Amino acid sequence: MPELSIILPSYNEEQNIENTYNTLTEIFGKEELSYELVFISDGSTDATYAEICRMMQKDNRVKGAEFSRNFGKEAAIFAGLEISSGDAVVVMDCDLQHPPQVIFEMLEKWRAGAEVVEGIKSSRGRESIFHRAVTGVFYSIMTGLIKMDMKASSDFKLLDRKVVNALLELPERDTFFRALSFWVGFKTEKVYYDVQERQFGKSKWSTASLIRYAISNVTSFTTLPLKVVSVVGTVFVILSIGLGIQTLVRFIMGTAATGFTTVILLILLIGGLILVSLGVIGNYLARVYEEVKGRPRYIISNVTENIPTHMYLKGEWKKND
Ligand code: UDP
Ligand code: MG
Repeated sequence: MPELSIILPSYNEEQNIENTYNTLTEIFGKEELSYELVFISDGSTDATYAEICRMMQKDNRVKGAEFSRNFGKEAAIFAGLEISSGDAVVVMDCDLQHPPQVIFEMLEKWRAGAEVVEGIKSSRGRESIFHRAVTGVFYSIMTGLIKMDMKASSDFKLLDRKVVNALLELPERDTFFRALSFWVGFKTEKVYYDVQERQFGKSKWSTASLIRYAISNVTSFTTLPLKVVSVVGTVFVILSIGLGIQTLVRFIMGTAATGFTTVILLILLIGGLILVSLGVIGNYLARVYEEVKGRPRYIISNVTENIPTHMYLKGEWKKND
């Protein structure tokens, strides 16, 4: 069993696989370290999986799996955790935006007893101002909501086998890896790194997918928005009691004004609030619905020859039975 597993979620990264493989093999070659590289092709539509297989032919330390469709980076990370067998597991992007030299620093902390080593971004690399603003707002909300400092955190981290097993025990389908590693606890250390420029291919995130990702993460992690809805509702009930009494008094005294503006404004405000609240509740209902269905996080359609097929291919083990 290797000492270290590196998990590399890859979605349409045909230009990156070989380069990343070469870079990692070169820097690990200098150390006496037994390791494996686990590439998960997240339903790529280009030659990513073929590239992974080609690397595996060259080097048995490369393992790979292919999803039946794009299930998202979270699913790819969890598939990697499941397939990997190292005593320590590092998750990193396969576009080398997470500098691989930092892994040695992580390993050092792990050997000194740390069970989780968080990669913290000391600089975010080049991003558009809009992207930076959106992620800035998202992470401040997340930090406030889940009471963990998420601002500079990333998916680049090292986990001890114990932590990996704890994460794999979690029953929920809708995961937020970045925050779950805080949630499970364990002895945590940090290392700092500078986000590198992407050399090949382009980023997979659009603004729309980032917003979807943000909403999904908030709702999968905290029920605070639901509580906010109740609080706002209560405040409005209290206000309406006051306003109601005042209106009645004026009516009885015969000084009721035409007051059309107030009525329209109140209707608009309360109508808007009701719709937003319904939306918030609907979002949670959708989450519950998704979880209750209990579908798997991902479906693997192919694994490389050096992985025991029956363990990961759902149709396959039935055939073997
Ligand atoms: N990724 C993935 N599935 C997806 C989107 C992205 O596995 O649906 C992988 C991608 O191949 C890369 C990592 O997640 O290794 C980070 O993605 P990307 O570089 O596009 O994001 P950015 O670095 O721009 O935040
Ligand atoms: Mg990237």
